[in-house]
Amino acid sequence: MGGAVSRPQQITVLGATGSIGLSTLDVISRHPERYRVFALSGFARLAELEALCLLYRPRYAVVPGAEAARHLQGGLLAAGLTTRVLVGVAGLCEVAAHPEVDAVMAAIVGAAGLKPTLAAVEAGKKVLLANKEALVMSGALFMQAVRKSGAVLLPIDSEHNAIFQCLPTDYARGLAAVGVRRILLTASGGPFRETPLAELEQVSPEQACAHPNWSMGRKISVDSASMMNKGLELIEACWLFDARPAQVEVVIHPQSVIHSLVDYVDGSVLAQLGNPDMRTPISHALAWPERIDSGVAPLNLFSIARLDFLPPDELRFPCLRLARQAAEAGGTAPAMLNAANEVAVAAFLERRIRFPEIASIIDAVLNFEPAAVVESLDVVLAADSRARALAEQWLNRHGR
Ligand code: NAD
Ligand code: MG
Repeated sequence: MGGAVSRPQQITVLGATGSIGLSTLDVISRHPERYRVFALSGFARLAELEALCLLYRPRYAVVPGAEAARHLQGGLLAAGLTTRVLVGVAGLCEVAAHPEVDAVMAAIVGAAGLKPTLAAVEAGKKVLLANKEALVMSGALFMQAVRKSGAVLLPIDSEHNAIFQCLPTDYARGLAAVGVRRILLTASGGPFRETPLAELEQVSPEQACAHPNWSMGRKISVDSASMMNKGLELIEACWLFDARPAQVEVVIHPQSVIHSLVDYVDGSVLAQLGNPDMRTPISHALAWPERIDSGVAPLNLFSIARLDFLPPDELRFPCLRLARQAAEAGGTAPAMLNAANEVAVAAFLERRIRFPEIASIIDAVLNFEPAAVVESLDVVLAADSRARALAEQWLNRHGR
């Protein structure tokens, strides 16, 4: 610990053009002596990926298709860069597992991030996990792979990063063994916390994406509005900290200053506080166990003045109940929940369904067939495909 870092750490940023990706690059820029960008990936907005490549001069860039690769490779060559452009999931897995990479920021959104995130884990990397969907889908296999490879898994989700900071370093011995009674997972309640229930039928994607405290990608913004985000985070917490769903309590905290808490048997409750800015958990995980400047302004408790706490309303937020049910059912249920949610959120963003129908679709998919036991990644991927097909059938049946 401490002391000068001998050589810069090589970092792969999966999902570099997204909200977390850009915040990661912002932190990296502040510490050129510590971190160097090894690879960047993008899916859409490839002009932005090209601009990032010109700035960070990575060894590799990864894009979804051959056509995009030719275009980007041409632009980079013309600018005198030696960056090699790779394609698709194979390219993502290659830069996630490359022997010269020290740490991988897993910041692709959704199930698309599963294989590259797992590739980083299996290669024993330091994995900075923002892509919560990967863990929700395949938690058992994912955590097995972490133990087998010796990968260091550090949570980027602000709540899980907070919990990680509030737990003792030997928490892997088990929550009971280290004296933890409960985990208190805070949630802002999103933009619709106080919207009259009847009006939820009419809310638009723009309203759903206008989060009061955090600026994020569109999918996670809708998840925050429905509180499916907290449901996914409940499942994420169970895997990361080996907790039972009943040990994780959701607390609505509209100011998003306390990022989560840990309740110990002696009555001590430890919390992590800070301004709502993802550069804090990103910096924490990048530098762990050291601390570095993140660019986040110091917390001003006097200007915050008060902190509020409320129980979640499951009538308003049925997605939270559905996620808890899936967590308790286990097996393939969380993967199906996640897949149905991804289809439903995309349909909502395309204005094909109304906001409350996100929960209706997930409910229908989960009720359609019982959860199966997860023995392999193929079982998870099959459950994901099946849930997507069932959700699409719901859309067709309802003429959307
Ligand atoms: P975003 O939409 O801003 O960015 C997503 C990134 O993934 C982009 O770089 C995009 O090009 C890439 N991508 C999208 N689809 C892809 C595909 N099919 N294949 C490969 N790449 C693809 O999302 P975000 O807000 O940065 O969130 C990223 C992840 O981090 C999500 O899992 C989210 O739940 C999690 N997270 C985000 C925040 C936040 O504040 N934004 C907080 C906690 C957790
Ligand atoms: Mg979060």
